[in-house]
Amino acid sequence: MHNAPVGFRRLDERFTVAGDDYLECLFSGGRWTEGPVYVPSGKYLLFSDIPNDRIMRWDETDGSVSVFRSPAGYANGHTLDRQGRLVSCEQGARRVARTELDGSITVLADRWQGKRFNSPNDVVVARDGSVWFTDPPYGITSDYEGHRAEPEIDGCHVYRIDSSDAVDRVADDFQRPNGLAFSPDERVLYIADTHRGHIRRFDVDGGKLTGGEVFAESPGGRFDGLRVDALGRVWAAADGVHCFHPDGAHLATLPIPQPAVSNLAFGGPKRNRLFITATNSVYSIMLNTNGAWRL
Ligand code: MG
Repeated sequence: MHNAPVGFRRLDERFTVAGDDYLECLFSGGRWTEGPVYVPSGKYLLFSDIPNDRIMRWDETDGSVSVFRSPAGYANGHTLDRQGRLVSCEQGARRVARTELDGSITVLADRWQGKRFNSPNDVVVARDGSVWFTDPPYGITSDYEGHRAEPEIDGCHVYRIDSSDAVDRVADDFQRPNGLAFSPDERVLYIADTHRGHIRRFDVDGGKLTGGEVFAESPGGRFDGLRVDALGRVWAAADGVHCFHPDGAHLATLPIPQPAVSNLAFGGPKRNRLFITATNSVYSIMLNTNGAWRL
């Protein structure tokens, strides 16, 4: 795999993040990679290759890449829950599902008031075990990332699954809700609206969202996946990787040598390695900052 020279474009003097001066390409040859999640117990990264309907596994111990699951319900975003179990958005199956420790799969949600979801896209799990996910239509608008179908739900919304598996609609004024991430203290939830080209900031209280003002406009490309680091900075995928201060200031851009970046995840045993899914490839870069510890 090739390495690409890289450097942060620093836009604000408060940005002091440094790291490798090159991007490592860990994998190339996917069709549209998405949904990276680092699994510390196994020292591997999982990521989706959506149009090829497979979840891939990059092994940190030897750098090998293999197929973790295929078919995979055209899986998109993944996260780990409080018990370390894999929680996945399956665009083809139009559901959010959990992989149990014995490998069996439990459906967490596939309907809202009797109607099938569009195609769940990205997911986060809060400390209380609730599962928050977005539901844009990318898995049903064509057969490329799922199965073409008519939507059953009027619009693209954000949902929360509580500990009793009840599903609540927590935001209903998005065009294309996509990546989402909590602040380290979980008092704030950031959600990207890909179509409108911005990230919104919500206050979280008792499983409800309030506020929702625009936090950041895209400097280039369309926002997709988001992550938050230990200092509360928001790292967002678009045409490259963009980093924002919690006050909304655009701190820096990390250029990625691909047409688009879909998502990112902090990982490695110290969570100081940023994994980036971009178009048909996966990259990583070691940083002197860490992803937020939320377990
Ligand atoms: Mg996404």
